[in-house]
Amino acid sequence: MLAGRFVLCQPKKRLTKDTAVVLDLDDGTQLRYRDDVQMGKVYLVPRAKADKVIPGFSPIGVDVLSKAFTVAALTKLTKKRRDQVKVFLKDKKALDALGNAYADEVLWAAGIHPKTRCNKLTTEQVEKLHGAIVSVLTEARDIARERAEPIDVKVRDFLRVRNRKGEPCPTCQTKIRAAGVHGHDDFFCPSCQPDGTGRGFVDWSRLKR
Ligand SMILES: [Zn+2]
Repeated sequence: MLAGRFVLCQPKKRLTKDTAVVLDLDDGTQLRYRDDVQMGKVYLVPRAKADKVIPGFSPIGVDVLSKAFTVAALTKLTKKRRDQVKVFLKDKKALDALGNAYADEVLWAAGIHPKTRCNKLTTEQVEKLHGAIVSVLTEARDIARERAEPIDVKVRDFLRVRNRKGEPCPTCQTKIRAAGVHGHDDFFCPSCQPDGTGRGFVDWSRLKR
């Protein structure tokens, strides 16, 4: 629910004010759930009922780091959707799973404008999108693993466009732009990620950089 952090620690570590749930694990450590805005929800239900009781728990889409995630699978998913590709990437019922930040990184790596309609993506764009999803998430996973930060620390400093409004694009030096889509920010390079439709959007590449 947008907020909340898991913390894995020893039981002697001081409890913070925002700790909502503490689970004692078999190995003596504790898994704590912290949520300073109290938006998170915890359900205690038999596994068999989880799908019915917990909103959004099921169905979960294809695991993008599994073998099932092929270009053909992505093509099938995007073909039947008319929503914006950025919205699609964050839909857990379709893909498991990308958040706001990685969706921006993926679209930048694929050179696709975030507002492009899914069913307007060309064969080449879907192939690029597939490659970008796999490479961006694999790289992120490897970096997070190497740094071995506590699980509540978001390792994000290696991201190339996310939260980098006004900074130069690593590829072409054009300034990174921010735009709103469905209440969430998009960060993208107007030059590397041109809007192909020519309708409805500002052609940022024509504006003064
Ligand atoms: Zn660029």
